[in-house]
Amino acid sequence: MSRRAIARINLAALRHNLQRVRDYAPESKVMAAIKAEGYGHGVLQVANALHDADALAVASMEEAVQLRFAGEQRPIVVLAGFQGIDEARQASDQRLQVVIHDDSQLESLGELEKAFKLAVWIKVDTGMHRLGFAVDSVESVAGRISAMPNLELIGWMTHFACADNPEDALTQRQLDCFTAAVQGQAGLHSIANSAGIVTRPDSHADWVRPGIMLYGSSPIIDRWPDEFDLQPVMSLESILISVHNIKAGEGIGYGQTWACPEDMPVGVVGIGYGDGYPRHAPNGTPVWINHTEVPLVGRVSMDMICVDLRECPQAKAGDVAELWGSNVPVDRVARMAGTISYELFCRLTSRVEFKYEG
Ligand SMILES: *Cc1c(COP(=O)(O)O)cnc(C)c1O
Repeated sequence: MSRRAIARINLAALRHNLQRVRDYAPESKVMAAIKAEGYGHGVLQVANALHDADALAVASMEEAVQLRFAGEQRPIVVLAGFQGIDEARQASDQRLQVVIHDDSQLESLGELEKAFKLAVWIKVDTGMHRLGFAVDSVESVAGRISAMPNLELIGWMTHFACADNPEDALTQRQLDCFTAAVQGQAGLHSIANSAGIVTRPDSHADWVRPGIMLYGSSPIIDRWPDEFDLQPVMSLESILISVHNIKAGEGIGYGQTWACPEDMPVGVVGIGYGDGYPRHAPNGTPVWINHTEVPLVGRVSMDMICVDLRECPQAKAGDVAELWGSNVPVDRVARMAGTISYELFCRLTSRVEFKYEG
């Protein structure tokens, strides 16, 4: 095991973060977003650890069926719904709750044989302009659904586009728009993602849909997880595989994009973009070695990164390096690499070994 990257997944932290959702939204039921393999943390382990969640939300039919086949008994909501009549039948067979957001789905449902019962959420587009029925079609969609006796309407859903920035006025407009659109319609309401949960109590409604906050990353831009008492779930680690003293003026790595300002120790950590560490992480991206934060220097390679060890001169091959986790918030690495924690979590590759704790 010379250079293996390890993702340690702290399931106790995951449960703590679910409790934080309950603290923020005590009146609401919780639909935990575990799409994309539980935001890259391992979907079955995450689903099991979140045994307290009232329902699970995934992106696709495939993800939902995987959970059912693994024995999951709770309600599973398919956020992008189904496509075509075969998937509608499958959703019924597997007792999935599907999100209806498009006319093409209503047409398939019209052809669905009466024996297939199906529970549905209806998604309304209040301004994100991705999925959802236009506000002015709510009446007619509700009419079409209630005319189909094998369908059970659970409720109404919408999704925030900019709630990660509490200053953005769109969030209030979306809330007002949703309230007006579903006024007088029967059914439950679900609006808030993580950002809505922590900043907009008026968006909590019947069901909240937390994703990123469960994994211990900040749902609000330029704020940190500990401000919301969230605990990091993933700790990404590798080891120092080499330490060299390099002379002043010498360049480091591909393209020689960083030069040593003095004679100094440079370490090589066994992780790179082939493991999912972001290639765009610039000079200065923090890495944690022996209780010290050290800066990444030079380009990220496929299997390795280099670090400036001047602050940590005792470091030696075999020492553990944390790329993100409890010492280096993933949000810091994401910001430096010009992306978001969601993407860093999701794009770890099969080279990374997952270890579950707690
Ligand atoms: C992914 C997703 C969520 C969770 O969003 P976070 O920002 O991770 O909390 C909620 N609702 C829908 C429709 C989603 O696709």
